[in-house]
Amino acid sequence: MTDAAPIAVMRPKLPELSALEPYLRQIDDSGVYSNLGPLAIKLEARLARRYGVASEQIITTSNGTSALQIAFLAAKTQGRYCLMPSWTFVATPHSALSAGLEPYFLDVDPDTQQLSIDAVRDAITTLGVDQIGAICLVSAFGAPIDAAPWEALQDETGLSVVVDAAAAFVTLQASKLISCISLHATKILPAGEGGFILCPSLDFAGDARPRTNFGFWNSRKAGSVSTNAKMSEYHAAIAHASLDTWHTRRAAYMDIAKRYRARLDLVDGVRLPSGFAEDWFNSVVVVRLSLPEGDACKAWLEADNIYTRRWWGAGCHTQPAFANAPRGDLRVSEQLAAETIGLPCHTQLEDADIDRICASLGAFLVEKDAPPLKRSAA
Ligand SMILES: *Cc1c(COP(=O)(O)O)cnc(C)c1O
Repeated sequence: MTDAAPIAVMRPKLPELSALEPYLRQIDDSGVYSNLGPLAIKLEARLARRYGVASEQIITTSNGTSALQIAFLAAKTQGRYCLMPSWTFVATPHSALSAGLEPYFLDVDPDTQQLSIDAVRDAITTLGVDQIGAICLVSAFGAPIDAAPWEALQDETGLSVVVDAAAAFVTLQASKLISCISLHATKILPAGEGGFILCPSLDFAGDARPRTNFGFWNSRKAGSVSTNAKMSEYHAAIAHASLDTWHTRRAAYMDIAKRYRARLDLVDGVRLPSGFAEDWFNSVVVVRLSLPEGDACKAWLEADNIYTRRWWGAGCHTQPAFANAPRGDLRVSEQLAAETIGLPCHTQLEDADIDRICASLGAFLVEKDAPPLKRSAA
């Protein structure tokens, strides 16, 4: 044990009262509190400009999980399964189930940690395309996704690909895929709770939008299987205030990423994701070890008063809620689960803290005689 001050894995920092006040006054003035009020409409317009799409292609939601649920409801065919990675957060299979799809877990690519398109093609062949209701690709801890092969798969099969881009606000780009983003307090653009769907077309948005509001749109007729997934005006206010300071927020997180990169590039046996601290950054720093000792690493750092998180645990297929879900070979997912650990990441980390974290991690890897890993092999 140690006397050193504890270092938390995460310390979310949301906009303070002074930043929220102008937006809260707008709510007082409008007297509108939800149901696509003026602040939600303005937020959709701001997000649409960021991604270069029409305002109607952004649908704000109550959280990232409800964004996924709506996306699956609007995208699914008659087929029963949603092909998805097990290597993801539990919200991915939960949201598919809540949209009437059964999760079918498939393996990921070892370099990108993202759903293997070969595994998906094999599963479509084996199960038959009629059995598949949708496909879900997950951005691993905010890493960019390569949309092109998935767009081609959509065209070939007639199936829709939903991207769980919950943590990928920074790297997301508009595409022919349906993308869902989270604005949770722990994500890089926080609204406390919140999310949005980036729709590939106005047609898709026209189908998805009423599903956030009981299926009602300009009438009291429930036109489709739906839920209540609307973003309140209060959450839209927080999202606006977060966007107002996006430039300082992004600089702070990029700086943390760069400080980790500079130190960890000198440590054998650990690797940051490809392009991290160069092309992108996030509100989490997730590293991969060269040996399957994530649990031991967590305990080692904790003995030094450094707190970490195995964000995706041992994979969704090991969670009791999904114990009966069908699955393919998950060898790569199991290996990644054992080798992956989330290091502390927040804007109050000092240089000395990052030195301490990297020194402790380095000592662990020396103790374990970890083999070197090539930098960013992906
Ligand atoms: C955060 C996250 C979610 C859930 O988003 P909420 O806004 O918390 O509902 C889903 N999937 C992934 C990959 C996430 O990181």
